[in-house]
Amino acid sequence: MNESKEIINKIKEYQQQEIELRLSNTEIKRLNDALKKAEEKSAILNSIIDSTDDGIISKNLDSIITSWNNSATRIFGYSEKEMIGASILKLIPEHLQNQESKFLEQLKKGNRIEHFQTQRLRKDGTLVDVSLAISPVYNQDGALIGLSKIVRDITKEKVAESIGQRLAAIVESSDDAIISKDFNSIITSWNEAATRIFGYTASEMIGESILKLIPTDRLEEEPKILAQLKKGIRVEHFETERLRKDGTLISVSLTISPVKDLNGNIIGLSKIARDITEKSLIEKKKNEFVSFVSHELKTPLTSLKSYLQMALLKPQDADFILKALTKAETQTKKMEHLIRDFLNVSRFEEGHITIKQTPFDIVKLVSDCIEDAAIASHKHKVVYEGTTSIIVQGDEEKITLVLTNLISNAQKYSPDGGEIKVSCALIEHKVVVSIKDNGIGISLNDQRNMFQKFFRVENEQTKFIPGFGIGLYLSSTILKLHKSKLQVESEIGKGSVFYFSLPLNE
Ligand code: ADP
Repeated sequence: MNESKEIINKIKEYQQQEIELRLSNTEIKRLNDALKKAEEKSAILNSIIDSTDDGIISKNLDSIITSWNNSATRIFGYSEKEMIGASILKLIPEHLQNQESKFLEQLKKGNRIEHFQTQRLRKDGTLVDVSLAISPVYNQDGALIGLSKIVRDITKEKVAESIGQRLAAIVESSDDAIISKDFNSIITSWNEAATRIFGYTASEMIGESILKLIPTDRLEEEPKILAQLKKGIRVEHFETERLRKDGTLISVSLTISPVKDLNGNIIGLSKIARDITEKSLIEKKKNEFVSFVSHELKTPLTSLKSYLQMALLKPQDADFILKALTKAETQTKKMEHLIRDFLNVSRFEEGHITIKQTPFDIVKLVSDCIEDAAIASHKHKVVYEGTTSIIVQGDEEKITLVLTNLISNAQKYSPDGGEIKVSCALIEHKVVVSIKDNGIGISLNDQRNMFQKFFRVENEQTKFIPGFGIGLYLSSTILKLHKSKLQVESEIGKGSVFYFSLPLNE
């Protein structure tokens, strides 16, 4: 009985063991499956780690590197073999080495470090710009055992950033307004020159429509320009007018190009506006000047013709002929001056002017010019004061032009009957030539501008006096080329004195 009980117990025991064995087999299978899955996962992770462009490095709490991927090799130049077991400090430039302990402190507090931009050292000793993301690595018990670092090489971004900064600096320092806008004509950028030219600040204009700058009678230009750009045609040097904040019009030359994204899609437009107000003003004045010269030449030419015809009428009357020819000569001189001024302006513009340095008698020249001025107009008394003869160095022909201009201005801007005093005074090694009138005078503000080309004082008194604002420009330029300077002292209503010096011929 006991024996059979024992047998039964044994059988039960075997049965139990079989059950356990079967159970453990399924457990083994389950564990195997889990292992397989884990292996697969780790293979996937490894291949990700090896194929990513970012360097992935892990290290223990003593800063010793425990893993190193392919991209880390590419970025730093060290192989996995060289780096595993080495200190991470090998990659950190000396002045940044205290960063490491700071990172550790942060991570111990449970903070991740993301997109931290810094520099690291390559094997070849060069620095590389990187962006770091650092996360803690914990063991199964949740204790911090190390760090894993993702390192991104941001050299290209840095280069692009610095190019961007340089471009931005160029845009800001440009003399031309540079404005960008989207296809709805809304302004998206506005540089300093745009503020200077149009009077609006960037904060006033960004987000506003470009139409704010377009005069109402030119509004149809915008859709035409847009249509052209959509066809891919750049708009270059398109001369038009735009509106300033203060409501005044400004002449501009526009160059408009499409702004494309990296894929070549047009995402907006950039406009470069050059202020050509001054250029158009000068052009306008030049045109006026040309028609003025032609007209002015016609007047003495007509008189000349009539004096000559008169002389021909009385071939026997010597007195009459002499008078007619004298008058004819005055007219030819007038024409000569006009042509000379005209030619001089264009020669000056082209830089073709040279100054001769020859000795000549300035007193004699002054006297000749006074005589010519007296012939040209009998309405003023022109007198000379000073020494009888002074030999100076310079370009006699050009100084003649200066004297003629200054004396004729003194006549033009003085009331009839006024007296003009021309003097030559010796001062040290120079002669100071001055032309003094008691005419209308010039305000301080106009004195500052009157040596500019085409500048004329415009007021009630000068309104009917003909002129084109080139005499003083030519005279001061000629004197500058002589290393001298045309100067003026003047008082409104009292008169003016223009003076300059020339070196003595020693
Ligand atoms: P223009 O006489 O042909 O206008 P200028 O260059 O000779 O040109 O002179 C420029 C301006 O300076 C003149 O328009 C005039 O207003 C002023 N100006 C020149 N000379 C005198 C003067 N002697 N007295 C008063 N104003 C003068």
